[in-house]
Amino acid sequence: NVNMKKWRVFVIPYFARGHLIPMKDFADLLSANHPDIEPTMVVTPGNTKFITSSLGKSNRSMQYPVQILTYPFPLIGLKPDVETVGIGKSTESSAIDKAAHMARPGQEQILQKYKPDAVITDVMFPWIAAIAADLGIPCLFFASTGAFPILIIRSLLKMGVYLGLHDHATVSGLPGPEIRMPVLELPTFVFEDNYMQKPERATKSWTDVFGFVVNTCRGLELEYCNEFEKTQASQAYFVGPVSVSCSMNQHDVIERGGEGETNCLRWLDNKEEQSVIFVSFGSQCYFKSAQLHELAMGLEESGQNFLWVIRGVDQSDEWMPEGWEERIADRGLVVRGWAPQLAILAHAAIRAFLTHCGWNSILEGTAAGVPMLTWPLAFEQFINEKLLVDVVGCAARLWEGGKRSTRETESELVPRTEIAHAVSRFMEPEGENSSVHCKARELGVVIRSAMAEGGSSTSDLSRLISDLINAMQSKTCQ
Ligand code: UDP
Repeated sequence: NVNMKKWRVFVIPYFARGHLIPMKDFADLLSANHPDIEPTMVVTPGNTKFITSSLGKSNRSMQYPVQILTYPFPLIGLKPDVETVGIGKSTESSAIDKAAHMARPGQEQILQKYKPDAVITDVMFPWIAAIAADLGIPCLFFASTGAFPILIIRSLLKMGVYLGLHDHATVSGLPGPEIRMPVLELPTFVFEDNYMQKPERATKSWTDVFGFVVNTCRGLELEYCNEFEKTQASQAYFVGPVSVSCSMNQHDVIERGGEGETNCLRWLDNKEEQSVIFVSFGSQCYFKSAQLHELAMGLEESGQNFLWVIRGVDQSDEWMPEGWEERIADRGLVVRGWAPQLAILAHAAIRAFLTHCGWNSILEGTAAGVPMLTWPLAFEQFINEKLLVDVVGCAARLWEGGKRSTRETESELVPRTEIAHAVSRFMEPEGENSSVHCKARELGVVIRSAMAEGGSSTSDLSRLISDLINAMQSKTCQ
């Protein structure tokens, strides 16, 4: 009886945590919303531990277990961190491509061996759609970025190498204001000759999928979601922010953090409401010591309370100003490594978020209703900043005075005085940023209601689940 069948759905994330986490949350949402869907996270050995520990701690996944399958990843000629963060410290697209391609044979093997009922793959692995099509398995793409950055990047790719001849790129023809950005702020792959014509991208895979899941929310970027839907051959589902959706459904988000987590939250409990700026730059970007030093001094000189997460593992303390830790002890907390970001952003003590504009971070910040101060560093982060600051209006740039670039070697050091000024001004709710604070609060309400019963993200998820079940049923009946 087809109706009694358990559906085995493979979820295949790219290696970096900014991809792994939302796809794991998405798998959780699938299992929680349909008892017959059994998602399996398909990951490389280096990520198995991270995914196992975070899955193991989630209440819901004990009820509806999300399985884990590991496929081999040959690290020939690559550093070990390629397998866990995707690209190590490089932000070059050739390194990203290389890492992605190393995974292909393992993915092919595991799909052929297990022949799941459906596959949901990160859009970073477009060939999986072609493999699934050959095996007769329905396939969906998952994008862990938004409709706005996707549309902008598609437009830029059409301009191609000629972009590199100019100082600025202008994107017109999209809804909303004309978008004009310095080319230095664009992801490097958009300048590559024939990027989309490379064999791995020129597969028929873009039409092989029956839909595109985007981890965004219509309430954040409605016009761009509509435009994306219009230009898409297949279905589009805007189901995000998936992490916040999971947490709203009693998913135990706090468990995701590292050892420092309870510390962090206890520290916040002792601070006044709306008195702390949260400072974090995601899971992949690193600062040089000189910049860390300026940031430390800037935070001190701002006179504000701050909770600062520093990517710890291989970062020594040579950046730390003499006597700094003692001087800031009463009002600053430094977390080295992994912090429980979702729980921190939701804490009443947080007034603002200084962020690198990674897509997940901005989703989490907007959903929490927290205004953001932006400091993008690489990839599509400057494009995300553009959306927040110039289109939506729930964020302000930290510094516009110097040269900024997605290439670390070309960006200027942000001086401590600029950091101190920007932070102290931004923490003032009645000051020049009052409309930004106001917009952020409003948006928080909009986004949280999208994920409640009857909201847009919830109904997109239901539509997705019923389309997915239909696609699997019709394959079974063939
Ligand atoms: N994150 C976290 N604790 C940390 C650093 C990151 O929980 O100390 C989470 C964060 O909440 C987000 C993800 O890791 O969900 C980072 O993704 P994002 O797209 O913001 O940045 P990326 O790491 O991809 O640059």
